[in-house]
Amino acid sequence: MAEFLDDQDTQLCDNCKKEIPVFNFTIHEIHCQRNIGMCPICKEPFPKSDMESHMATEHCQVTCKCSKKLEKRQLKKHEETELNR
Ligand SMILES: [Zn+2]
Ligand SMILES: [Zn+2]
Ligand SMILES: [Zn+2]
Repeated sequence: MAEFLDDQDTQLCDNCKKEIPVFNFTIHEIHCQRNIGMCPICKEPFPKSDMESHMATEHCQVTCKCSKKLEKRQLKKHEETELNR
């Protein structure tokens, strides 16, 4: 019988970079590696099923009206900066 683990004990999951309770870690890791992927660009963990739409909405390249190429997620900020010039 394993010793009772304090529920404050956590272990960092390498896959999603979250602190996972130790008692849950093995199960989490199996599910996590199967379902969660790390976005190679923003280093955020995402469900693998959402990765495509994440890439499409956040990281696809768009061309601003000033003909500067940037990521879609940067466009709003870029446009605001431009407007406030
Ligand atoms: Zn994880
Ligand atoms: Zn991303
Ligand atoms: Zn622009």
